[in-house]
Amino acid sequence: MLKLIIICGFLYFLIRWIVRVLTPAIPTSHEPVELKACEFCGALVRVDKAIKVHGRLFCSEDHANRMR
Ligand SMILES: [Zn+2]
Repeated sequence: MLKLIIICGFLYFLIRWIVRVLTPAIPTSHEPVELKACEFCGALVRVDKAIKVHGRLFCSEDHANRMR
């Protein structure tokens, strides 16, 4: 009987380990994405994906060029 409990416990940890290894890492920390308005059209763009020209933010390269 004791053997069965030990085997079950071992299997439980083995399965947990396999699931953890096979499951792709899901990013748990969702950092807030800062949105800013494009200086040309006013569309909200993610700061990390915006085009930055002289400290001004644009939604695309095209709009950045139009404000030059
Ligand atoms: Zn724009």
